[in-house]
Amino acid sequence: MDPPQESAAAGRKRRRRGGVRNRKKLSSQKGLPPAAAPPTPASPPVKRRRKDIASQAAAMPKRGNTSSLLDKMRARLSGGHFRMLNEKLYTCSGEDAFDYFKNDPNLFDVYHTGYQEQMSHWPEQPVNVIINWLKSHNASWTVADFGCGNAAVAKNVKNKVFSIDLVSDDPSVIACDMAHTPLEPSSIDVAIFCLSLMGINYPSYLEEANRVLKPSGWLVIAEVRSRLDPNNGGADPEKFSKAIIQLGFSLVSKDVKNKMFILFCFRKKEKSKVAKGIDWPQLKPCLYKRR
Ligand code: SAH
Repeated sequence: MDPPQESAAAGRKRRRRGGVRNRKKLSSQKGLPPAAAPPTPASPPVKRRRKDIASQAAAMPKRGNTSSLLDKMRARLSGGHFRMLNEKLYTCSGEDAFDYFKNDPNLFDVYHTGYQEQMSHWPEQPVNVIINWLKSHNASWTVADFGCGNAAVAKNVKNKVFSIDLVSDDPSVIACDMAHTPLEPSSIDVAIFCLSLMGINYPSYLEEANRVLKPSGWLVIAEVRSRLDPNNGGADPEKFSKAIIQLGFSLVSKDVKNKMFILFCFRKKEKSKVAKGIDWPQLKPCLYKRR
């Protein structure tokens, strides 16, 4: 008599059981006790698998949270990229920075997105203080904004402004290393450096400002406080002012009331003369912490 035909499902079950038995046999043949046989990923115990799936699901973000998690990860990555670019700008020459951004102008957007994020935590924006200063003076003055970033000065005052930065996606911004601008000598009434004395060769930016400023022209500098804090490895602000005075300027005011930055106002002497061997202090790089 023919053996009764088993159903397809029963056959699968039997073969599966047999498969496990055979595996046990194989492992003991190799001299391993059955318990030590590594579980094959193809057939983990069914109970365990269900539990794993349940706990993975619990750990997974809910649908609505997925995009916010991705946003957080993106923000973290671009924050890291910003800090890397920022450190680069503070530790290389303007010429190297210019070449660096010229090869990949998109990096400039990465830098400025991170920069704006950092600045949003400052109680007062130095660029706004400078804009207000300009508004309260003479609208016919010609201004040069050295390291203009998003050209906020030009966008907010009536004056004629030459905006200068390493990269320009705006035709009104002159893209160059600000140690060498195309501006005419003695053509500018106000030179602004708002948090832009970044390169290790920063004195050459001030020498360039001196070249393009008219006699009695203004030099307005906002710099990060920590860069000029001798108690924390920063430069001595007196030494910084003295070097600029030796370049041919008078110090008109030094505003230290802001928590995050110092604002200096110098004026080029009517008959200015550059002293020999100016002792420029090294400005400490401003490296932002991870938030
Ligand atoms: N002044 C702007 C931006 C400050 S960030 C503001 O206050 O909002 C500093 C800017 O200086 C950056 O945009 C950077 O690209 C620019 N910068 C730094 N070194 C430069 C150089 N050698 N030549 C031109 N721009 C420079």
